[in-house]
Amino acid sequence: MVNDTTLLLDLDGVSVMRVERLQCGGRRVHLATADASARACPACGVFATRVKGWATTRPRDLPYGESGLEFVWHKRRWWCRETACPRRSFTEQIEQIPAGARITGRLRAASGRRVRDAGSTVIQTARDLHLSWPTVMNAFRTAAREVVGAPLPEVEVLGIDETRRGRTRWEQDPDTGKWKMTRDRWHTGFVDALGSGGLLGQVEGRTVADVLAWLSTTPLTWRKAIRYVAIDMSAVYRSAIRTGLPEATVVVDHFHVVQLANKMLSLVRRRTTAEIRGRRGRAGDPEWKARRRLLRNREDLDHEQFERMWNPLLDEGKIGQTLLTAWIAKESLRTLLALARTDAGRNQVGHARWKFLTWCADADIPEVRTLAATVDRWWPEIQAFIDTGHSNAKSEGINRVIKLVARHAFGFRNADNQRLRTRCVTTRRARGHLRTA
Ligand SMILES: [Zn+2]
Repeated sequence: MVNDTTLLLDLDGVSVMRVERLQCGGRRVHLATADASARACPACGVFATRVKGWATTRPRDLPYGESGLEFVWHKRRWWCRETACPRRSFTEQIEQIPAGARITGRLRAASGRRVRDAGSTVIQTARDLHLSWPTVMNAFRTAAREVVGAPLPEVEVLGIDETRRGRTRWEQDPDTGKWKMTRDRWHTGFVDALGSGGLLGQVEGRTVADVLAWLSTTPLTWRKAIRYVAIDMSAVYRSAIRTGLPEATVVVDHFHVVQLANKMLSLVRRRTTAEIRGRRGRAGDPEWKARRRLLRNREDLDHEQFERMWNPLLDEGKIGQTLLTAWIAKESLRTLLALARTDAGRNQVGHARWKFLTWCADADIPEVRTLAATVDRWWPEIQAFIDTGHSNAKSEGINRVIKLVARHAFGFRNADNQRLRTRCVTTRRARGHLRTA
């Protein structure tokens, strides 16, 4: 009974009897059962032969065309002929439309995939496909199982990073009038920092225990294959890795080291302005004018920009001198970090490090000395970066996507849902458009 209309509909188990045009412009499709196994009793499996009566259902399907389709499925009720069967009668069902289902299996699956792969929010999919929020959420959870349940890809470099979840909340103490932070929620994310595995997992919180809790859910053989762990300068994560992945080498991300040097430079600028001018910086001050340029990389400034920044600063006297000393410390640290991926020998690295540290020691600027002390404290991890060139850049990229998803959804009330959504959009396996034919 395969006619062209049935072929066009392409819904297994039913055939199209006729299609009628409705007054509102829509189309109503009358369906008949075309699958012999629909006659099998769901309780005992015996094929029925005696018709009890007729029933019609109106399952909904994927949108087709502008005005959509409306289904009327004319199906039979059967008497079960197996005398021992507890089920006396039943109505026909097919795989795409189980008994009692109001929507087809393919509509349910498509709604789940829209959220999982296409980055749609649950509410948007529900609106587009005329479904309820819980229906789409359940379909998404089912679709997400493929992603979450899949074994982790082998990872050589693991990236660990934190992301803030939602806004912080502050409350004022009615007695003292002081403001206190009452809510500050974080997620810790684990990513494949070298390969294409994307986000591997996420846990709530950012303590040693949170990191260890996630690691304990992974297979031992998978953990053994991890050779490096890239982090920003977080002592908590470093200590968690020493416990949870004792054989892995910790690599500190160079981006965060440079960020630290830039913060140092801004601190020096504000303090010297306050000390020498006895006030905060103003638009007319040369150091205020140069505040952004000071943070740029030396190689990104051309000769003219460089002169326009330093000549007026050095004319100021002490402020300019102090800033120049701090700026050279920053650039000397960047020179040291730039040795990564250059096959620099131990001697060359040792020399660059010595130059940076002696410059800082001679500088006699407290912020510069603090920077040198921090770099010294993190030296094994910084050296591991220079040796390997591994960074946490993938985490940064994934964090951008995480924030985008949260903004798109106008925030999440349920952290489990948020993690599931985030996991799906940032895991390559889940993103259908990246799959090659
Ligand atoms: Zn039966």
